[in-house]
Amino acid sequence: MTRHELKLPLSPVFRQWKMGIGYRNTTIEALAASQFRQNLLLIGVAITLLGAGLILALRATTREMKLVEAKTIFVSNVSHELKTPLSLIRLFAETLELGRVRNSEEAHEYYRIINRESRRLTRLINNILDFSRIEAGRRQYQFAKTAAAEVVIEVLQSYERQMTNAGFESQMNIQPDLPLAMIDREALAQAVLNLVDNAIRYSEQAKKIEVSVHLRGGDIAIEVADQGIGIPKAEHQRIFEKFYRVSTGLVHDTKGSGLGLAIVKHIVEAHRGRVTIESAPGKGSRFTILLPIIRPEAIGAAAEPLNPGAVTSAARSAGGYNVAENPHH
Ligand code: ADP
Repeated sequence: MTRHELKLPLSPVFRQWKMGIGYRNTTIEALAASQFRQNLLLIGVAITLLGAGLILALRATTREMKLVEAKTIFVSNVSHELKTPLSLIRLFAETLELGRVRNSEEAHEYYRIINRESRRLTRLINNILDFSRIEAGRRQYQFAKTAAAEVVIEVLQSYERQMTNAGFESQMNIQPDLPLAMIDREALAQAVLNLVDNAIRYSEQAKKIEVSVHLRGGDIAIEVADQGIGIPKAEHQRIFEKFYRVSTGLVHDTKGSGLGLAIVKHIVEAHRGRVTIESAPGKGSRFTILLPIIRPEAIGAAAEPLNPGAVTSAARSAGGYNVAENPHH
C-alpha cells in the first residue's frame, strides 16, 4: 500500500475528497535512508582509497629515503674501498722504488700485495661501471655457445693464488660431458668472480670454498659454497637488491659496495637463468647459478658435449682440482 507523504483537502469544491501525494512502494524516509547508505558507501570507498594512497605514498617515500641512505653509505664504502687498495699500492710501490727491501722474498711479497690490491680495484671499478650500464639499460651481452665449466675454471685459475695466499682451501668439482649453454663469457666470469670474492670476504675461521658445475634438470648449475658467516633467511631476497648489505646479526666489518649480488642477478637473468641461495648464520652459504642448456631441438642438432679431456687437463693445470666422476658414466 502506498503511504501518502502529503494530504490535502480538495475543498471547497470536493469537500469529501482528499488528495494524497506519495511514492509507490517507498517513502521519503526509505529513500533518504538508502541515499544515506549510498553516500556512506561512497565515503567509505573514498576514505579507503585515500588511505591506500597514503600508505603507498608513505611506502614510496620510505623506500626512497632508504635508497638515499643506502646511496650515502655506498659512496662512503666505495670511497673507502678505493682508498685502501690505492694507498697500499702506493706504499709498497714506493718502498720498492726506494729499494727499502731486505731480500727478494720481501720484494716478492710486496709485488704480490700490489697485484692483489690492483685486482681488487679492477673488480670494484668493473662492478660500478657495469652497474651504471645496467641502470641505464645499456648493458649489452654477447651470447655464444659456451661451456660454462671453462668459464668457471678460468675464474678460479686467475683467483687461485689469491685464495691460497689468504689461506683458503678450494675444491672444484666439474661434471664431465656437460652440454653447452648460451653464455656471455665475460659477464658470467664476472658473476662467478663476485660469488667467489664474497665467499672469501665473508668467511672467518673456516676458509674453505667449494665450486661445482653440474647438470640439474635442464640447467647447468654453478655452485659456490663457503663455510663463512652465513646469511639469515629473512635477508635472502634482499641481498640481491642494489646497495643492500646485511647489517643485523653477525655484523661484518667487511666493506663493500652492495652491488656484487645485484649484478650477479642481472647477469644471470639476462642469460634466462636464475640464482638461488641456501644459507644460515654460522653455517656458510651456497649460491647457485642456474643456466638453461641449449636444447637439441633449439639448435636443430644435438648439443655438443664439452670435450671432457679439455676440462680435465685445464682443471689439472689449475693445480689439483677434483674433476668429479660423472655418475652416469
Ligand atoms: P657487498 O659484498 O659489496 O656488500 P654484495 O651485493 O656482493 O655486496 O652482497 C650483499 C650482502 O650480502 C653483503 O653485504 C653480505 O652481507 C651478504 N653476502 C653476500 N655474499 C655472502 C656470503 N658468501 N656469505 C655471507 N654473506 C654474504
